[in-house]
Amino acid sequence: QEHVQEKIDYVYKVVVIGDSAVGKTQLLSRFTKNEFCFDSKSTIGVEFQTRTVTINNKVIKAQIWDTAGQERYRAVTSAYYRGALGAMLVYDITKRPTFDHVAKWVEELRAHADNSIVIMLIGNKADLVYQRAVPTEDAVEFAEDQGLYFSETSALSGDNVDTAFLRLLEEINGVIY
Ligand code: GDP
Repeated sequence: QEHVQEKIDYVYKVVVIGDSAVGKTQLLSRFTKNEFCFDSKSTIGVEFQTRTVTINNKVIKAQIWDTAGQERYRAVTSAYYRGALGAMLVYDITKRPTFDHVAKWVEELRAHADNSIVIMLIGNKADLVYQRAVPTEDAVEFAEDQGLYFSETSALSGDNVDTAFLRLLEEINGVIY
């Protein structure tokens, strides 16, 4: 069998945003390393992780950026959004305020990111069914209204995580080419 060296066709920068503790870092490590870390950190300093996927016969390196805790100090900078083609906007289905703040995050994206940025709204911690505080329909409605894609995920079980990221990457691919 012939040895095929992997060649990257495109690099897509994706930013992960949303309130503190909604599971941004865990979603990122689930998607890039298939890991969930139980005694998780404060992410300080970590910038991005990558995973390479093939979409429409093109090898795409997804470069997924973590806020590194900046959102706690309302200090997510324009540099963070620069060049981003996609955004995962995450809330926690068990914490209503994290969903109520989603509109603010959309504003932030509209202010700092490129107009053509593809946004996916993510209701994370879907495994915590008995603690649900945000009905799926509320999020579906908001997403339709704002023109966002939407998915509910669990970084803990891994449910829908790949599907959601891959969907976002496919949509980015569609916007660009
Ligand atoms: P971040 O501040 O948004 O990056 O949030 P983290 O990724 O650090 O996660 C915050 C807390 O939520 C941690 O205690 C995680 O273990 C927990 N967590 C993250 N994702 C999930 C999930 O899908 N389900 C459950 N049950 N807990 C989660």
